Amino acid sequence: MARECAADQRSTDEDDQRGIGEEAMKCKLCIEQGHPPNFGSPPRCAFESGEFSSDNWNCATAIRIRELMYQESFGELGLRLRMHDQSFGSLWVPPHPEDIPYGKRIGPWRGGGFISGYWYKDRGQTEMLIRVDPRDGGNEKEAALRLTLAEAEAAIENWDLYKLEPKR
Ligand SMILES: [Zn+2]
Repeated sequence: MARECAADQRSTDEDDQRGIGEEAMKCKLCIEQGHPPNFGSPPRCAFESGEFSSDNWNCATAIRIRELMYQESFGELGLRLRMHDQSFGSLWVPPHPEDIPYGKRIGPWRGGGFISGYWYKDRGQTEMLIRVDPRDGGNEKEAALRLTLAEAEAAIENWDLYKLEPKR
């Protein structure tokens, strides 16, 4: 993925610092995707508030995570299941390579983690994506939360890096 210029990078960092729910935004993959000509209506990003919302359609990040759940279901790090037209998926998320062992970078998946979710058939709406994280296991209210945009994008980045250099 190209990083256009320093100014773009700076504004992205500012977006990250603003946190959740202050301003409508889109995930990077939805911005790249635009409105594909074969889509009847424009995609609706699942992360406009910075946190997953079920009010989405063909959000490129949500769809990418669903694809990873499917791809990794052939190994042992993902699960994809469809029962009575309801689809379920889970995915282990590797830490960023610089996060371990206790590197400088401290990312949202520093101990590895898990995403679970569900959607109807293979439709464009993703009904739920949550992070399941034993890191916060001492606090059960925080052990399973809606996935944030920062977590979703980091999960995809970590998977791209992990595929280059798997450590199974
Ligand atoms: Zn999106």
